[in-house]
Amino acid sequence: MTIFAKILRGEIPCHKIYEDDHVLSFLDIMPIARGHTLVIPKREVATLDQLSDEASAAIGRVLPRISRAVLAATGAKAFNVLQNNGELAHQAVHHVHFHIIPKYDDASGLGIGWPAGKLQDGGALAQAIVAKL
Ligand code: AMP
Repeated sequence: MTIFAKILRGEIPCHKIYEDDHVLSFLDIMPIARGHTLVIPKREVATLDQLSDEASAAIGRVLPRISRAVLAATGAKAFNVLQNNGELAHQAVHHVHFHIIPKYDDASGLGIGWPAGKLQDGGALAQAIVAKL
């Protein structure tokens, strides 16, 4: 069982921000910026691709509202929404979660490596992905 499943069951505490039938949101215990907040589905799946349309929509409905509250409470003007899937992609807790991370300055918050390349086979690649939808 993941640590987030334990939080959902009330077995360990959290600083709750929001809850409805499908979603729980709480402060990250090791924030990389003040106001760093997590939003998780109550459905216990590890990665976003496994999440149902319904559970995903429930998160989508509240992400902007929670983000606005984080900005208003912290005074931050910018923020990142981060969602990691798989250990290679820096996922440590294997229960889907979205990070809302205020960005105050270059020194705090999310730092991003962005090794941009040049799109080579856009047509074929798009076709291959579309065929899997
Ligand atoms: P990720 O690397 O995307 O899996 O991020 C997992 C996040 O969960 C990290 O930012 C941790 O600080 C956070 N975290 C781990 N345990 C707890 C906890 N008990 N309460 C709140 N946040 C937690």
